[in-house]
Amino acid sequence: MNIILVQVEHFLRRILKLADECNEKISSTNIQLPPTDEEKQKHENSTACEYCKTEYTELNHKTYHHAHQSGRYLASLCNNCNLLCKPRLQLPVLAHNSSRFDNKLIVRGLTEKIVKNVQIIPKSNSNFLGIVLDSKVRLMDSFQFMDASLEKLTENLRNKEDDPEKLAQIFPYLADHFKNNQHLPLLCSKLPFPYEFMSDPSVFEPDVQLPPQSAFNNKLKNQDCSLDDYNIAVKVYEELKCESFHQFEMAYQAVDVLTLSQVFEHFRKKCMEEHIILILSTFGQPQDLHFKLL
Ligand SMILES: [Zn+2]
Repeated sequence: MNIILVQVEHFLRRILKLADECNEKISSTNIQLPPTDEEKQKHENSTACEYCKTEYTELNHKTYHHAHQSGRYLASLCNNCNLLCKPRLQLPVLAHNSSRFDNKLIVRGLTEKIVKNVQIIPKSNSNFLGIVLDSKVRLMDSFQFMDASLEKLTENLRNKEDDPEKLAQIFPYLADHFKNNQHLPLLCSKLPFPYEFMSDPSVFEPDVQLPPQSAFNNKLKNQDCSLDDYNIAVKVYEELKCESFHQFEMAYQAVDVLTLSQVFEHFRKKCMEEHIILILSTFGQPQDLHFKLL
């Protein structure tokens, strides 16, 4: 079997397992805070379900609907509606520009052995905006929400900050992963990487070291790697005490994934705080948010 398809299978199994674990955690959490006087009054005065609008009966009685994670009162509902509101997560999994790249590979690697039910949201004949796996996982493209390169997005969030402690506050996921805040001025940015050097699994052998500057040239973009950029890669290799190219690649992946998580989390919180809009409920930026962000 093609090595890429083996990796896709491994990835799909991991995220489906993660979705099961998250749902398990959600269904076993049930916090209920005491209602405020206003909520208590509202619940007592309710004579019909807020969702289906039918009046309560002895069989379909009034229930106190609350968020199981925060314990907050949400609405007064009939029993039928309350049962339908059972919390269930469809785990969002984001990759930057995945509709043009990752999703194509994932679609090729989908088999009934791994996933029984697949919904594909097409963007065009060959690009896939999103994929829903077994109603448990949504593979989404973060570029549909933040249409800039990861390099630019990270740069914006960093805002020219160089102080390690302040960077740890802006990028807590990176700080938590790399444990030493002194690395952060070097790591809180898009790192150079020799993509074309990754032509064969043998590059992960323990005796393979960081390749020369020419290996960092990008033939796809027809760009040569500058000495400054190569020196950043060398510094990362040395500062993180990498003993092989594989260790450097692992650090690069961690930086890439964690900076995207950080940038997206910042964006999601900002949308919630300033616009009260739930991001990730759709596969792209809701239209009204686009206007609000202008
Ligand atoms: Zn109802």
